[in-house]
Amino acid sequence: MKRIVVFDLDETIIDSAHRTPNREDGTLDLGKYLELKNRKSIMQDSLLPLADVFKSLDRKDNYIVICTARAMDQDDFDFLHLHGLMAHNVMCRPMDGSENSIADADLKARKISRLRNLRQFRGLPVLMFDDAKPVIAKMRSIGVACLNAIAVNRKLVEV
Ligand SMILES: [Mg+2]
Repeated sequence: MKRIVVFDLDETIIDSAHRTPNREDGTLDLGKYLELKNRKSIMQDSLLPLADVFKSLDRKDNYIVICTARAMDQDDFDFLHLHGLMAHNVMCRPMDGSENSIADADLKARKISRLRNLRQFRGLPVLMFDDAKPVIAKMRSIGVACLNAIAVNRKLVEV
């Protein structure tokens, strides 16, 4: 492995705007999100240009991580599988709600720091894509090269 590459889901590789009521700052409004979430609405999501980047990465060189503020259930995993979005590792909120009060940025920083400290990953560069400004700022503060997914997707549409 040469690097860890981390992808957020909503508005980074998946266009789920029709059912994800994000706050002004791009973080997830978890309460409203859970109300609107069901298998039918999940399956109406579509892919953003960064999903092609995700799929094209070499699985030997890149340890591919999905890091989302969602609490993932089987429907979410089925959607990923259906669209060929296979990661080495999926990090999300637990379904029991025990981490629901943790802000997206803190949740992601905690999970990625833990991963980075594992012996097999120590010293590897971490590249991340996320659309939420608080997440981007937090990740950069802990030494993760985090790119703004909105800007990257916009660029990818142009080329
Ligand atoms: Mg997002």
